[in-house]
Amino acid sequence: MVIDKSIITDLVEIPKTEIHLHIEAVTTAETVWSLINKHNLSIEGVNSIDDLQKKFKVKSLMEFINLFINIIQASFKSEDDFYLLMRDLREYLLKNNIVYSEVFLAPTSFINNGLDFNKIMDVLTVEADRFYKEDEIDIKYIIDVSRGFGLENAQKNLELTLNYNSPRVIGIGLGGAEKKGKAEVFEPVFKKASESGLHVVAHAGEDCNYKSIDAAVNILKAERIGHGISAMENEECMNHLKELQIPLEVCPTSNLFTRAYVKSIKKHPIKMFFEKGLFVTVNSDDPTLFGTTLVEEYLLLLNKDIFTKAEIGQLILNNLKATFMDEKDKASLEIKIRETLNNKGYL
Ligand SMILES: [Zn+2]
Repeated sequence: MVIDKSIITDLVEIPKTEIHLHIEAVTTAETVWSLINKHNLSIEGVNSIDDLQKKFKVKSLMEFINLFINIIQASFKSEDDFYLLMRDLREYLLKNNIVYSEVFLAPTSFINNGLDFNKIMDVLTVEADRFYKEDEIDIKYIIDVSRGFGLENAQKNLELTLNYNSPRVIGIGLGGAEKKGKAEVFEPVFKKASESGLHVVAHAGEDCNYKSIDAAVNILKAERIGHGISAMENEECMNHLKELQIPLEVCPTSNLFTRAYVKSIKKHPIKMFFEKGLFVTVNSDDPTLFGTTLVEEYLLLLNKDIFTKAEIGQLILNNLKATFMDEKDKASLEIKIRETLNNKGYL
């Protein structure tokens, strides 16, 4: 299939939602470089913007984690720095015509570096309110309670989230290294979050086998699963996900990068999940770190003949359906999306 520019233009013009996006991973090398200079930071192996740009082209999981924690998160030294992050987020959302997004923030490293959660959230919510007015893009936040930092830290993050009490903060998510913290450990945190009216989601089945997905669904009662790739190994797990219609936030380029279960895009289980009737959505995960965007993820799936245009249309609608948007707003956005999909031959 030959991809011409009009396909990219069409994919951009379709209004979209995104539900699996890490705010730290929309940061550009330029932003991080300006923070390194602003705060006079010395970061090993980073003496110029060129060095930093090279670090942004991660080739392994270790390089990814190093960049995420030791370079990006470490360069944010004051809450005001988050204005730059919001500028990058706005640019990313506008470029992809993402009109509604649910964005993860992992606050632990920032807090450990001495920043104040409430002040960070003030910047994130004030800017989100401004973008909503000026650009008609709606941003909601899901606070990450990282597996790797343990139960006590997760409880602390939940308390901070509940105390912050903003309509822009809608849930908690289990993220971080899947191998470093079993879902069951976090059961009390997820139970309390649900009882307090927060949505709960969990990364699972990205780097660990299908039992990790079962635990996130059965024990944490996760409303959506980040990735869920290893469900491909187990018929029962797939049937369960299908039966409950739990949305899977699949991030193809990210899964290829992790390489735990997917060695090539042609072997990615996304199409098999879709054909079996599982609830599949497409997302970008960490755009600037993986050199991708939401539009490019859809383009990849089209370009490799994995999905037809009509199926891509369905995936775009699935993503909307899987959001935690209230039903009235969801219905009115659905009309807009369907209209554009229809005009562009995606329905
Ligand atoms: Zn993720």
